[in-house]
Amino acid sequence: MNLTTGYPYWLINSGLQANYPKLEQSVKTDVAIIGGGISGALTAYYLVNAGLNCIVVDARTVGLGSTCASTSLLQYELDKPLCELANQIGLQTAVRSYRMCSESIDTLQSISQKIKFTPFEKQKSLFFAAYKKDKKLIEKEFLIRKKSGFQVQLLGEKEIQQQFGFSSPAAILSEQGATTDAYMFTHALLKASIKKGLQVFDRTVISGIEYKKTGVKLITEKGHIITANKIVNASGYEITEFLEKKIVNLHSTYALASEHIQSPMPVWKDKTLLWNTADPYLYMRLTTDNRIIIGGRDEDFYSPGKRDKLIKKKSALLKNDFSKLFPATELIPEFCWTGTFGSTKDALPYIGTYAKTPHTYYALGFGGNGITFSVIAAEIICDMITGKKNKDALLYSFNR
Ligand SMILES: Cc1cc2nc3c(=O)[nH]c(=O)nc-3n(C[C@H](O)[C@H](O)[C@H](O)COP(=O)(O)OP(=O)(O)OC[C@H]3O[C@@H](n4cnc5c(N)ncnc54)[C@H](O)[C@@H]3O)c2cc1C
Repeated sequence: MNLTTGYPYWLINSGLQANYPKLEQSVKTDVAIIGGGISGALTAYYLVNAGLNCIVVDARTVGLGSTCASTSLLQYELDKPLCELANQIGLQTAVRSYRMCSESIDTLQSISQKIKFTPFEKQKSLFFAAYKKDKKLIEKEFLIRKKSGFQVQLLGEKEIQQQFGFSSPAAILSEQGATTDAYMFTHALLKASIKKGLQVFDRTVISGIEYKKTGVKLITEKGHIITANKIVNASGYEITEFLEKKIVNLHSTYALASEHIQSPMPVWKDKTLLWNTADPYLYMRLTTDNRIIIGGRDEDFYSPGKRDKLIKKKSALLKNDFSKLFPATELIPEFCWTGTFGSTKDALPYIGTYAKTPHTYYALGFGGNGITFSVIAAEIICDMITGKKNKDALLYSFNR
């Protein structure tokens, strides 16, 4: 599957980080993890810290799946507002999902500190009305979040203009949020885990899986066999090649990083994450080297050919979206890219076991909160494999 095209900023910024070997012989392990993106790397980190013997195997060069394309905003707010999610799955479950995403931002911060990974900054997040008609949604959403205990403020048109320098009828300012670099985070996690015994093999495609009574055999394209007691499938959107059950709708999304802005940052307050109520939504963040990253303008199809032809047009549209908000700031796109993106029926990930594939755990964090979902997946799967009860596992189960 073609996951991304163009020039993802993080790849340009950091380039190749490590040369992992290909798997050239058959091996045995406690847990084999398919996928060396942020989901596989986090799961491996948890499992090796729990004392398990693990192997990560990736078909690509590590990090070159969706992870390198991620704009790496960390939000507790899901793609579906809490008020809508509560109607769909019940208030208590919806609030718990929001709360878990919020906690996972703190968890990621604490992991980043433990492994001395510095590109991680806590930021506030501003969810603003794209149109006048969305003011009611913002007010309703504010009330439900406030009642549910999230640290939020409702801002009116004047406050938004004063603090953020653009016009919107209403917005929710949340205390919780962060930015990072998922590509470098992945490498940092793998590096830390390798020190504790993790083995990583890339450019090694898993082309077959045999489920046995006591474990699983993964067969590589070259014919080598990984014998494992358990496997974790963290193959991202390519899960569609492993599972016949349809759990994700694939579409296409676009992002750009501007040239770095040389004058003192003229843009908005406190490097706050910005995103709006439009469908598809528009979102923005700043980088440590004073660039604006802006994304959105999604298309409802998965077709790499069609998707890639639109990069230039979508970049112009994103630039225009920015100019409408901040007419005094000139944004010059420098790196533009596109990627496959996935959404689920309730904006929640799929984590845990699937009856037809024994000894297997899935870490599938789809949607705009992919990275926070990856942490939740790592925690739940580590508990499941080590035999601990996890009361939240049912929330993301395949049977929901
Ligand atoms: C443009 C864009 C912007 C985004 N912005 C954000 C954001 O701001 N915040 C956020 O939280 N999320 C964001 N996301 C989503 C986020 O990037 C993903 O949720 C996350 O990167 C998924 O990581 P992963 O490890 O699950 O998947 P991947 O990074 O795709 O890793 C899966 C790996 O599995 C490997 N694999 C697949 N099949 C096989 C096989 N048969 N054998 C061996 N290996 C295999 C692949 O090669 C791949 O490297 C964004 C996504 C895109 C495209």
